[in-house]
Amino acid sequence: LDASDRSRGTDGLNAFLHRNTEEALRVARAVDEARANGEDLPELAGVPVAVKDLIVTKGQPTTAASRMLEGFMSPYDGTVTRKLRAARMPILGKTNLDEFAMGSSTEHSAFGPTRNPWDLTKVPGGSGGGSAAAVSAFQAPLALGTDTGGSIRQPAAVTGTVGVKPTYGSVSRYGVIAMASSLDQVGPCSRTVLDAALLHEVVGGHDPADSTSLTDPVGGYAQAARAGAADGGLKGLRVGVVKQLTGEGFQAGVQQRFEESLELLRGAGAEIVEVEAPNFEYALGAYYLIMSSEVSSNLAKYDGVRFGLRVTPEGTPTIEKVMGASRAAGFGDEVKRRIILGTYALSAGYYDAYYGSAQQVRTLVQRDFAAAFSTADVLISPTAPTTAFDIGGVDESADPMQMYLNDIATIPTNLAGIPAISLPGGLAPEDGLPVGIQFMAPAREDARVYRAGAGLE
Ligand code: GLN
Repeated sequence: LDASDRSRGTDGLNAFLHRNTEEALRVARAVDEARANGEDLPELAGVPVAVKDLIVTKGQPTTAASRMLEGFMSPYDGTVTRKLRAARMPILGKTNLDEFAMGSSTEHSAFGPTRNPWDLTKVPGGSGGGSAAAVSAFQAPLALGTDTGGSIRQPAAVTGTVGVKPTYGSVSRYGVIAMASSLDQVGPCSRTVLDAALLHEVVGGHDPADSTSLTDPVGGYAQAARAGAADGGLKGLRVGVVKQLTGEGFQAGVQQRFEESLELLRGAGAEIVEVEAPNFEYALGAYYLIMSSEVSSNLAKYDGVRFGLRVTPEGTPTIEKVMGASRAAGFGDEVKRRIILGTYALSAGYYDAYYGSAQQVRTLVQRDFAAAFSTADVLISPTAPTTAFDIGGVDESADPMQMYLNDIATIPTNLAGIPAISLPGGLAPEDGLPVGIQFMAPAREDARVYRAGAGLE
């Protein structure tokens, strides 16, 4: 904990929405004492961790960075929170995010943007910009994020850190405020691949409280990371370059560092092959329909009656007026945009054309992955098309698509439920900012992304 005070960039980042310092110190001291007494402790006991403020924590506020949940205290812990406590890891606090995890820059937080420690005028990515910035700035050695369309990996890419989206169902979603339930996944943020693997092992595993939890999660992540980092660890690994996720639309320096990574992999004995994923072209469109549809349903419960902020308008307050006024005041513009889009996509008469076709595209994306994995063990791409952009640099009221395009390389894996990692790939020559490299693997083969990631690292 002392080390984080001496670290660079602790000022003005706004990475944390809540600091839990006293409790964290208590846990850390108890672990020190236990260690001094020779007690048997879990591997990560005493290692502090920050938690994205989308995951509920007993005794600390949980806001989802929304006015809607300002001051909300959860009466229970999420499964991952409970596992952190059981592992005796001090919880440093709750990190900032785009409201309800919707965004790619953390600018949609109702409590102000988080800044990128590499350059305070730049965004730290999103939605998990708080977790990534905290890890990047040495304010926390580890953090938890959630990834629905890239919210762990893209922030990792633009802050020079590591982020993993595990196989869907490999980490429990119980106690994670739902954005889009068929896509949401909790995962680790860290500075090294091995650290991510160790944290994944702590929080992963079957959970009867989550109906989509895998009954037989695989594990072996840390072992795979160690094997990948060892001499010859990448020998014979078939790495598929996804043609549709490189070249046009990617910043020159991102593309350059990506190609250098391929050279490093070749040098380490990996075999580089090219794979085609023709349906990825439609993935972004399908994601924004499926995600918005699920958002419109999941966020219906914040009605000022059962959950969240309550605003009572003047005059005779009917229940509709209370709901309308509460949702108008509680939600920000981007959340409203998605609720409206999702409600439209699901409405009678449009359902087949929008939601139905999007689900068909989702199947085609899954088939593209299946075909690609018949010739490659892992796939590789840049994580994000650009390095960190300016705070306020994207005019979303004019063109929300510009923000959505940040997710172009991360979204296909969420649609397919497969695991992926982003790790640092050097700095872009034109701006000196971090570039992220992404590996993807088939479902339940999370160990492969740790092996490949640690080998390239
Ligand atoms: N940028 C994506 C979105 O806005 C990612 C969201 C996420 O992964 N939580 O939908």
